[in-house]
Amino acid sequence: MDSTALITSHPKQSSTSTDLLGTPFQHLCQLLDDWGVGRVQAKRIFRGLHVHRLPLHQIPSLGRHATTVASHTHIATAEIIEVVSAQDGTKKILLQLSDGARVEAVLLPMRRERFTLCVSTQVGCAMGCSFCATGTMGLTRPLSAGEIVAQVYRAQEYVNAQVAIGHSERTLSHLVFMGMGEPLHYYEQTRDALRVLLDQHGICLAARHVTVSTVGLVHAMRRFSSDFGGRVQLALSLHAGTDETRRQIIPAARKWSLSELKKTLIDHPLPGSRVLMLEYVILPGVNDTPAELDGVAEFSRGLRALVNLIPFNPFKGSDLRSPTRSEIDHVEVELKRRGVPCSVRVTRGQERAGACGQLAMQGFQS
Ligand code: SAH
Ligand code: SF4
Repeated sequence: MDSTALITSHPKQSSTSTDLLGTPFQHLCQLLDDWGVGRVQAKRIFRGLHVHRLPLHQIPSLGRHATTVASHTHIATAEIIEVVSAQDGTKKILLQLSDGARVEAVLLPMRRERFTLCVSTQVGCAMGCSFCATGTMGLTRPLSAGEIVAQVYRAQEYVNAQVAIGHSERTLSHLVFMGMGEPLHYYEQTRDALRVLLDQHGICLAARHVTVSTVGLVHAMRRFSSDFGGRVQLALSLHAGTDETRRQIIPAARKWSLSELKKTLIDHPLPGSRVLMLEYVILPGVNDTPAELDGVAEFSRGLRALVNLIPFNPFKGSDLRSPTRSEIDHVEVELKRRGVPCSVRVTRGQERAGACGQLAMQGFQS
């Protein structure tokens, strides 16, 4: 399908129309002044949209302002098409956007009756990492901030509906931006979605419960650090201890070296007991050699960071293989021996292709 046709075929998403669901509170205040509505209506509108999930014309006491705001804006949509459950309780949700494009979000069951939602920021991904199913799709288009927000709301409503009918007791409390797409590639969309989701006038998610994972786009990481002051958790996909190997498996690494990445992480503020997360997909024979592990130890020295080891999840068409249990243990032991704090991420949802790096529309009926 031609992606540009998809975007332009939807008249409501023209550049002159504001993405209302993805507009942060402060920006909304300014816009309401510009439109002659006045910022006094901002709280009412924001609560109506984000807490009560009402269409503009049903927001109480908004009166004729509803028509004015509607004339300048559109409201992003995401519709749940299908949900597939894995035996471990992981649920993969297929969502359709207003132009027919589809993305996936994954609900991961956690301790204490909670779900973490793994959020997508793009249809596909432009980064092309060799070990990632999404990377093999290429990029169709980024999601708007409002579409990212709508994705979270649909998943939350699904979770709440399961509770209401007695099928579950779980609530949605945590987000990880680890679904399809590179969250810092279209940074403004991710930034605005985060601002909306964290806002005290909206659903007010706790910043420490939100993690953004990046392949390491240095210029955007710096903006993210300064915009959120380290309150939102940052995860870097490290995946190699040498620039040579990293560049082989992550094309984006050709632009920024490990030493530039490290400088960026040193400058990232870490309030309270916050730590950085360094993700490391174990690729046997590629990034588990002594030279790579020495490089990881060197990289993490001086950083308050925890290495999260992710066994490679296989997908159709990839010639990489998953590590065996003893290969995983070897990496963990060797990193610990080098003084690197690390843990192994439990793989979930794999049989329905809902695990890390497997999000490429497999496992659904349609
Ligand atoms: N684009 C971002 C976030 C999405 S990917 C990023 O790359 O960080 C989320 C995590 O899953 C990343 O650490 C990514 O490297 C990892 N991942 C990708 N493909 C994988 C695979 N096949 N098996 C295991 N982890 C994978
Ligand atoms: Fe994109 Fe992340 Fe997959 Fe790389 S690992 S292709 S950045 S989604």
